[in-house]
Amino acid sequence: MLEKIVIANRGEIALRILRACKELGIRTVAVHSSADTDLKHVRLSDESVCIGPPAPALSYLNIPALISAAEVTDAVAIHPGYGFLSENADFAERVEQSGFIFIGPRAETIRLMGDKISAIEAMKRAGIPCVPGSDGPLGDDHTNLALAREIGYPIIVKAAGGGGGRGMRVVHSEAALINAIAVTRAEAGNAFGDDTVYMEKFLENPRHIEFQVFADEHGNATHLGERDCSMQRRHQKVIEEAPAPGISAEIRERMGTLCSQACIEIGYRGAGTFEFLYENGEFYFIEMNTRLQVEHPVTEMITGIDLVKEQLRVAAGERLSYRQDHVVVRGHAIECRINAEDPTDFTPSPGTIVRFHAPGGPGIRVDSHMYGGYTVPPFYDSMVGKLIAYGETRESAIARMRTALDEVIVDGIKTNIPLHRRILDDAAFLAGGTNIHYLEKKLGI
Ligand code: ADP
Repeated sequence: MLEKIVIANRGEIALRILRACKELGIRTVAVHSSADTDLKHVRLSDESVCIGPPAPALSYLNIPALISAAEVTDAVAIHPGYGFLSENADFAERVEQSGFIFIGPRAETIRLMGDKISAIEAMKRAGIPCVPGSDGPLGDDHTNLALAREIGYPIIVKAAGGGGGRGMRVVHSEAALINAIAVTRAEAGNAFGDDTVYMEKFLENPRHIEFQVFADEHGNATHLGERDCSMQRRHQKVIEEAPAPGISAEIRERMGTLCSQACIEIGYRGAGTFEFLYENGEFYFIEMNTRLQVEHPVTEMITGIDLVKEQLRVAAGERLSYRQDHVVVRGHAIECRINAEDPTDFTPSPGTIVRFHAPGGPGIRVDSHMYGGYTVPPFYDSMVGKLIAYGETRESAIARMRTALDEVIVDGIKTNIPLHRRILDDAAFLAGGTNIHYLEKKLGI
């Protein structure tokens, strides 16, 4: 097993990784910005290193500082968490070139799947269903017009290097196409340093359903079922659940198997997620996340498999601790992301948490770095924790989540807990299977 690792992240995920390390007897190095000295995992880690000032570019995105931290502490591996450098192929490469293990896939796999065009090409080769589209970069106006006509409006123009819901534009009619391509191209060039764009059919009312995969370096590739992450605002997931309402065991098996076969095809290593849009009973691949996801706990709850411990095992060169035929999806799990933000206008609400009471009881899990007296800094993502509820049925998971949302107390900052209470009482959510636009429509935005 790995002796000591650097946790190159902050907040709840850094704490989650630290807990898995402790269980496996791995020593931990917390790296943090000067604004994060009081983070829970910094206090609990074996060692800590300040890697720079608050601005992420100077700390959590500062590759030389992260590698030096691994060097000075004699760590053997670096866990990137999610966000920050977790899907940065150059970082993965530099980590390995410096003699450390990158806890994630190989740099070339991250690169392949990070470019949306090459990812779609690889997925098509693996037999994964994709959205009908240009199947490559856009060319001249004449060809683009003909292509869009063939695909049928509305279409969406997307940047090959895009991410985080940016670099996309929906086009409803032929008159708007040429201009939309030009604008998306210019934006993509500025934002991602690559102005390659492509187009695909715009699905009007899809759900977001994703499959969790896991592969080791011994030829084992597995899937752990799906999650439904359709409850979103501005492309940000708000609530996730597993399994997805209405997805049968047969569909799970068929799609999951396709995804694990695709992992073999691309030489995948570690934890990954295949994201699909799901409409009228069909799946359409949109992208692969080559890292651990925020919403991984719902999969852990229904499978009993600890994804972070598996990541650490695979990084150490070990085999997965389970086989596909050991994976049993049992019960239902829901996750509510708790953000430090105003529940009505969604503006961030950093500040000192004067009182924090975590909920509890059967089936309740709290993944959070919050504590009474902790000050949420204004420099980073506003997510301060996740409440996860498990039940034998979807109804019992919802009932437990409602109780947890009534119990939890976060005083001193505003949070989106009132929004979660509203959603948990919403008739369409209770029925299950709402699409990705549902929440914004409900909120009237
Ligand atoms: P990013 O990497 O920026 O997250 P994605 O390709 O995952 O980009 O797309 C982000 C979101 O944009 C999706 O979750 C979905 O809401 C919307 N989207 C992307 N492609 C399509 C499409 N073809 N039809 C409808 N919506 C889409």
